[in-house]
Amino acid sequence: MKILVTNAGSSSLKITCFAAEGLQEVAKGMVERIGQASPALRFSQNGGQVASRPVEAADAGQALRALVACLGEAGLNGADQEEGIVAVGHRVVHGGEEMTRPVLVTPEIKELIARYAALAPLHNPPSLAGIEAAQELFPDAAQVAAFDTAFHASMPERAFIYALPWELYEQDKIRRYGFHGISHGFVFHEAARHLGAEPSGLKAVTCHLGNGCSMAAVNGGAARDTSMGFTPLEGLIMGTRCGDLDPAAVLYLQEQKGLGPAEALELMNHRSGLLALAGIGSGDLRDIEQAAGEGAPRAQLALDAFAYRIKKYIGAYAAALGGLDAVVFTAGIGENSPTVRRLACAGLEFLGLEIDEKLNQEGGEGVREISAPSSRVRLLVIPTNEELAIARQVLRVVRRED
Ligand code: AMP
Repeated sequence: MKILVTNAGSSSLKITCFAAEGLQEVAKGMVERIGQASPALRFSQNGGQVASRPVEAADAGQALRALVACLGEAGLNGADQEEGIVAVGHRVVHGGEEMTRPVLVTPEIKELIARYAALAPLHNPPSLAGIEAAQELFPDAAQVAAFDTAFHASMPERAFIYALPWELYEQDKIRRYGFHGISHGFVFHEAARHLGAEPSGLKAVTCHLGNGCSMAAVNGGAARDTSMGFTPLEGLIMGTRCGDLDPAAVLYLQEQKGLGPAEALELMNHRSGLLALAGIGSGDLRDIEQAAGEGAPRAQLALDAFAYRIKKYIGAYAAALGGLDAVVFTAGIGENSPTVRRLACAGLEFLGLEIDEKLNQEGGEGVREISAPSSRVRLLVIPTNEELAIARQVLRVVRRED
C-alpha cells in the first residue's frame, strides 16, 4: 500500500510516494514552469533519477497526470489494494479559520478551498486542480487535505487579532492566519523527539527560513503566535518580500509614487527583502553572503537586517511563551547558513541561549544540536520534510486518529 503526497506551488507541482508501512519514500517527482513556456518534468525512484524531460503542463492537474504516468511506468501504481495508492495527501496553503486539522476531501472542503483562493490566489487554485485530477486518477483512494494554516489555529485571539474595526475581522476575516504550519509542526515534534522531551512540556521557537521565512512560538505542540499574517508578506525579511512594514508606507507608495494596488503588492512581494537591500541583483542568501564576504556594505547590511529581525522575534516569542526551551532552525537558509544562525543568536546569552560556533559551522545530515553545553536553551538545526509530515497526517486521518 502506498501514500501519495502532492505539493502544488504557484508554478510547480511536487509529488512524493511513500510505502504506507513505515512511510519510506519510494519515488518523487516534480513539474516546474507549469502554465509557462516549456514546462519540465523530473522523476526519481529510490533516489535514482529515472526521467527528466519536457512535458505538456498547462495546469497542476495536467502536471499531476504526467507524474502519475511516471509512477505507472515505474510499476508503483498497481491496481490492487496491496500495490496501489490507497490515499493521496494534498498540501493546501489556506484553510481559513475553519480548518484546524487535516480532513478528508468532500465537496464542502473543495468549496472552502475555492473560497479561500481569494486570500491565497497563487496557491489554493492549483491545489484544487491537483485534488480534482487526483480524484479522477485515484477514485478509490482517500483524498486528504493538509492545510498550512491549520497548525496556527491554536493561536489565542490576542495574538491573531489586528486592531482594526471589528467588522473587518467578523465579516471580512482579516486576521493573522500564519503559514508554513506543516513545517513548523514537523520540526517542533522532531525537536521534542531529539531532546527526549514530552511535546506537551516543550516551549520552542521554530524558524522556517527559506525562500519564504516565518517563525512560530510553540507551547506544547500548539502554536501561540507566528510572524506571517493575513498573507505570507508579514514578519521576517525574505528573499524578495519586505516583511513587517508601516502600513502607511503602502499608502505613500500609492498616493505619492502613483503605484496602483497591484503594483504596490508586486513591489513588496517581488522587489523587496534581501534582493532590494543587498543591491546585487539577487535575493539568494548564498549570493548575498558571498558579496558581503567580498566587502559589499549593502550585502552586509542585508544580512545584518535579516538576522536582526529573527533575533527580535526570538526575544518577542520568549516573552510570549513565558520561557524558552529550544530554538529550531529549518529550511534552505535555516539548515545551511551558519552565518545567519550566528548573527541571529548573538547577544541572546541573557536569555540563556549560547551557540557553539564550532558545532554551528559543522555541516551534517539529520538533526544537529548547535548549542554550547552550558546553554540553557537548546539550539537545533532540523531538516524540514513537509511531504513526510503530510503523509503522517494522511495516516492519522485514514486511521481516524486525528
Ligand atoms: P527553500 O525555500 O527552503 O528551498 O530555501 C531556499 C533558500 O535557501 C535559497 O534562496 C537560499 O537563499 C538558501 N540557501 C540554500 N542553501 C544555502 C546555503 N548553503 N547557504 C546559504 N543559504 C542557502
